[in-house]
Amino acid sequence: MDDMDDMNDRYDMNDRTPMIDCQAVMRRLWDYLDGELSTESVVAIEAHLEMCGRCYPQYEFERDFLDQVGRLRREHSDLGRLRTRLLETLRSHGFAA
Ligand SMILES: [Zn+2]
Repeated sequence: MDDMDDMNDRYDMNDRTPMIDCQAVMRRLWDYLDGELSTESVVAIEAHLEMCGRCYPQYEFERDFLDQVGRLRREHSDLGRLRTRLLETLRSHGFAA
């Protein structure tokens, strides 16, 4: 009997936490990072990430990845200008055709 009560208590505790599971978080992580989720989903995911040691590193990884991609894109748009300036410099020094 005592064991049963114990199990029920533990079950209730888990049940009270309004958590979505890891799979749901993983599936929505990109959308979350893209800001394409409803406030409700964002709150649920953030609550999960705060508590889940398994999803948080994944979240950090994907966030950093998107960060890098964003930075690369910015650098690429500057790359054209950079090349032009480089070519001008080279020409002014008598290099390049
Ligand atoms: Zn998780």
